[in-house]
Amino acid sequence: MKIAKEFRWEMGHRLLCHKGKCFNLHGHSYKLLVEFTGNIEPNGMVLDYFDVKKIISPIIDELDHTVIINKDDTELTKAIRQLNSAHVIVDFETTAENLCLYFLNKIKDADLPKNISEIMVKVFETENTYAEDKIIILKK
Ligand SMILES: [Zn+2]
Repeated sequence: MKIAKEFRWEMGHRLLCHKGKCFNLHGHSYKLLVEFTGNIEPNGMVLDYFDVKKIISPIIDELDHTVIINKDDTELTKAIRQLNSAHVIVDFETTAENLCLYFLNKIKDADLPKNISEIMVKVFETENTYAEDKIIILKK
C-alpha cells in the first residue's frame, strides 16, 4: 500500500553548467510529491499524514524562500551574502534530479516506522517537468 502527500515551496537557483537560460538566477514554485510504501498497521494506516508532515516540513522550511547554491558557484555565494539574503549551500548542481537525491537522503535518515519499505519522491520544477527517484529500505 502507498500513501502520498504534496508539499510546495518557492526557491531561487541557477545552473552553473547550463549553456542556456538556466544559467541565469531564477526561481520556481517547486512541488514535492513524496510516497511511502509499506504494510498497513493495525491502526489502519501505512503512515499517519500528520507524521509525514512532521518529517517533510522541516526539510521544506529550510529551503522555502531561499536561494539554493552549488558550492562551486562562488560568485553567486558572494553576491547573495552581500545582499544578506537567505540561502542554502549544497555540493551539487541544483537540478530537479539532484534535489530528488537530496530529499531521499534526508527522509531516509528520519525516524521512520519499521513497516515502511520504500520511499519515492518526485520534484516538480514546473507544472509539467519533474524528476523522480526512490529508495528501498532494507530490513535489518
Ligand atoms: Zn530552474
